[in-house]
Amino acid sequence: MDTITLVIPCYNEEKTIPLLYKEIVKTAKVMPYVQMELLFVDDGSKDGTLQVLRNLRRENHAALEQSADIPRVDYISLSRNFGKESAMYAGVSNAKGDYVAIMDADLQDPPSLLPEMYRAVTEEGYDSVATRRITRKGEPAIRSFFARQFYHVMKKISDVELMDGARDYRLMNRKYVNAFISMTEYNRFSKGLFGWVGFKTKWLEFENVERVAGETKWSFWKLFKYSLDGIVAFSEAPLYIASVLGASMCGVSFIAIIFIIVRQLLYHNSAYGWPSMVCIIILIGGIQLLSIGILGLYFSKTYLEVKKRPIYIASENTLEEELKAE
Ligand code: UDP
Ligand code: MG
Repeated sequence: MDTITLVIPCYNEEKTIPLLYKEIVKTAKVMPYVQMELLFVDDGSKDGTLQVLRNLRRENHAALEQSADIPRVDYISLSRNFGKESAMYAGVSNAKGDYVAIMDADLQDPPSLLPEMYRAVTEEGYDSVATRRITRKGEPAIRSFFARQFYHVMKKISDVELMDGARDYRLMNRKYVNAFISMTEYNRFSKGLFGWVGFKTKWLEFENVERVAGETKWSFWKLFKYSLDGIVAFSEAPLYIASVLGASMCGVSFIAIIFIIVRQLLYHNSAYGWPSMVCIIILIGGIQLLSIGILGLYFSKTYLEVKKRPIYIASENTLEEELKAE
């Protein structure tokens, strides 16, 4: 029998975890042909998430001794909040299952899609099944607008395939998982990494579901920084824009200098036109600052990358405790 490990990144999700667990137990009942396993990753939560996970695991392991057909629960607790990307990496790289799925804790990724996803990877020959939401119902309009613009721009300036509305919710086979965890970069933008991996991916679509409890951890500012991460990680276009802008400004000012010299030789009125001079100086100064800023962005990412810091640090890992006990 195949095993599916569900990796669930959790940051301040004490309210949603029990609800999610109930749903997954239901889903596991309609999929008796697979062994389901849950691997929660507590991403340095500040509420009672870790305590909820400890209790859930204890109750779950007691129940497992009675019947083996409920999903087994394990968790990893990170030493601080590393961000969802690192939490996903921590979970996926520790997952033992033949298939691994990533799922949000807030039930925005419907567990009811799992049977269909499993069918696609086992019977239809796909290596992974990804999901995207086709509506953004319940989301602030301004957020949807900027999200759409981001996907639009990324499509133009980057080679990797990004889907509008793509979720991180996906089921992957071993081959795909190994490729994903072989990418150990520090600045992770999974939506891009998944596309970069290649292989055969099937896309399932669903209507947006609002989170069952708690609230979103993504502020507008956090999302904005995340989208810059995505652009810097998967596109060199901003560097080209800066170079082209700089080069064309040089060309324009060269022509202007020739024009001024010729005018001086012909009419001898060189004090004329200093306001336009100031404008040009400000413009060129601005372009230089912009270019340096863009360079700095790439440079700072490179700096973090060459340090080769670990992507996450675990303070508690029930899978490892298990190994020690054996
Ligand atoms: N999450 C996380 N670390 C963070 C932020 C979020 O592990 O720093 C988890 C969170 O617990 C949830 C998932 O990532 O399971 C998606 O977060 P959220 O629902 O807040 O995002 P949204 O659905 O609003 O985009
Ligand atoms: Mg959510």
